[in-house]
Amino acid sequence: MRNITVIGAGTMGNGIAHVFAQHGYPINLVDINPAGLEKALQTIEKNLDRQVNKEIIDEEGKKKTLNNIKTFTDLKEGVKDAELVIEAATENVDIKLKLFTELDELCQENTILATNTSSISITQIGAATRRPDKVIGMHFMNPVPVMKLVEIIRGYATSDVVTANIVALSKDINKVPTECNDYPGFVANRILMPMINEAIISLFEGVAGVEEIDTIMKLGMAHPMGPLQLADFIGLDVCLSILNVLHDGMGNPKYAPCPLLVNMVRAGKLGVKSGEGFYDYSEGPKNAVVAATFRKQ
Ligand code: NAD
Repeated sequence: MRNITVIGAGTMGNGIAHVFAQHGYPINLVDINPAGLEKALQTIEKNLDRQVNKEIIDEEGKKKTLNNIKTFTDLKEGVKDAELVIEAATENVDIKLKLFTELDELCQENTILATNTSSISITQIGAATRRPDKVIGMHFMNPVPVMKLVEIIRGYATSDVVTANIVALSKDINKVPTECNDYPGFVANRILMPMINEAIISLFEGVAGVEEIDTIMKLGMAHPMGPLQLADFIGLDVCLSILNVLHDGMGNPKYAPCPLLVNMVRAGKLGVKSGEGFYDYSEGPKNAVVAATFRKQ
C-alpha cells in the first residue's frame, strides 16, 4: 500500500498524515473545512520544526515530508487512487456511518477502509459498507508523531489478510501495532476510562482532593500524569462519551459515569479546551495546574 488518504485534518488527522509522509508515503489529506486544512499544514510544519530541533530529522527530511502531503476538500478527488483510507473525522456515529457508505461507493474495490475512532463499533461501521472484511480500526494515540502504540481493532468480519497488511504497515512507520477484538472501548479506553471515572468518584465522595489524587497516582504508580489532569487533557466531554459507550455496550453499572463528571460537562467545564476542568487553564495549558478548582462537592 502506497497511496493513503487521511480523512479529517484535526488533532489526530494531521498527526497521522505527518507520520506517514515522514516515512515516504504520498498522503492525500481531506477535510470539509478548508481553514482546518490550512491549520493542519501549519501544525505539521511546527511539529516538524520541533523534530528538526531535536535532530530527529534534518531540513531535507522536513521538506520531503511536507512535499508528500496534498490537501483536498473534495472527498471523491481525495480518495480516487487510495489503496488505504484512514478516517479521523469527528467522533460522531452518524458522521462516520454516512462517510463510510460514501467511501464504499467512491473507493476502488480493494481499498481498505480504516477508522481511528476511540469508541464507535468497528463492526457497526463495517456494516455500513459492502466490504466489512476490509474495514478495520487503526487507533492511534495522541500526539501521533510521539506515541508508539497503534491499537489494531478487528471488527466481526475483518479479514486476516487485511489485519496482517495493517499490522505490517504500522510497523513500517515505526509504530507498535497491537491487536484486539471489537468490544466497547477496545482495550485502551476500556481500562483507562474506568480508572479516570474512579478518580472522579473518589473526588466526588470526598476521599481526597484533586491534587492529592493526582499526586498519589503519579508518584505511587509512576504514571506521567494523574488521572484527573489526564481527563482534562483528553476532554471531559470525550471521557463522558466513552464511558457512555462502555455503559450502554456492556450493560454493567460499574461503567456508569460519575455524576460529578456529568455535571461538569453540562456546565461546559471540559478541561484544557474550555479553560477549566479539574484544574484552571486560564493562564494557558503550559501554565496548567495552577489551582485545583474542585476539591469536594
Ligand atoms: P478534531 O475535532 O480535532 O478533528 C476532526 C476533523 O474532522 C475536523 O477538522 C472536521 O472538520 C473534520 N470532519 C468532520 N466531518 C468530516 C467529513 N465528513 N469529511 C471530512 N472531514 C470531516 O477530532 P480529533 O480529536 O482529531 O478526533 C478524530 C478521530 O480520532 C475521532 O474519531 C476520535 O475519537 C479519534 N481519536 C481522538 C484522540 C484524541 O486524543 N483527540 C485520540 C485517539 C482517537
